[in-house]
Amino acid sequence: KCHLESAKMLNLDSSVDASLNLQSRPDVLTCTYWKAAIIWEGMFDPRLYDEMHKMKGSSVALTVFAVGRYLDAYLHTFLNSSEQHFMVGLPVTYYVFTDMPEKVPNIKLSPLRSMKVIKVEKNSRWQDVSMMRMKSISDVIESDIRHHCTHVFCFDVDQVFTGRFGSEALGDSVALLHAHYYRLPKYLYTYDRNPNSKAYMETGDFYYHAAIFGGSWKNVKALTEACYQGIMEDKQNNVEALWHDESHLNKYMLLHKPSKVLSPEYCWDTSIGFRTDIQVTRLLWAPKYYDTLRTP
Ligand code: UDP
Ligand code: MN
Repeated sequence: KCHLESAKMLNLDSSVDASLNLQSRPDVLTCTYWKAAIIWEGMFDPRLYDEMHKMKGSSVALTVFAVGRYLDAYLHTFLNSSEQHFMVGLPVTYYVFTDMPEKVPNIKLSPLRSMKVIKVEKNSRWQDVSMMRMKSISDVIESDIRHHCTHVFCFDVDQVFTGRFGSEALGDSVALLHAHYYRLPKYLYTYDRNPNSKAYMETGDFYYHAAIFGGSWKNVKALTEACYQGIMEDKQNNVEALWHDESHLNKYMLLHKPSKVLSPEYCWDTSIGFRTDIQVTRLLWAPKYYDTLRTP
């Protein structure tokens, strides 16, 4: 068993995870030191999580950005695969942010699922497209999501669902272990180490991947607002964090520990090769065509 029983008073997600009989695994870390579960295949009974979230009336907003050439390159595959695997059985609303609303593919959605398309300006630097997501997400949580959904999950578009990405991943504040870093010693984590940036940190708990984060709408609003503020202060001071929004996310998660952590099953890169601890892949990195996609 994960040591979650003792965590009942510490955070709500650990208490729920404990009551749903979350199991441990001998070969991987399944609990953070602050008693948040790290979710791996074999630890949970999917039916129990689905039942509980249906009973509680959980509903999920999925935000995804497809700006410029990323739309044609990835959006169709992302949405189609998400219909097969993401939170199946729960109400899901897609919030697709794009500069070309008319080009969003017309995908037949399952019952309980709908899509909202939100027009955004195209920033000329890809770094700004990536960073400004924080602002757009916090705005739409305030204007729309908070009235319709209990939870929010924010995704990069350059990925494809290949297995269950279900309600076991829902929590108050959810972060993802980066596939390339979860086995590396901390001194190799690429945090922002420039003291002039708001994202500055010497050391942390994990290296989180900004391709996926989530939580209750309240927590995701707080996170995106804080990251956006850090990004804007950096701009005023003429600095940019090493890995942009990801650096700010890592800083935020250092100061506000996630209540649930997702294993790299939830965002795997097949180029890493075979790993015994990766028993399923739920979402895979799509090929990155930076040369063609990022040239203005
Ligand atoms: N993005 C976009 N258009 C761009 C640049 C970025 O739509 O021109 C969005 C898209 O959702 C993408 C995310 O921002 O997945 C992050 O960028 P990218 O995936 O290139 O970053 P990386 O995966 O290399 O960190
Ligand atoms: Mn990406």
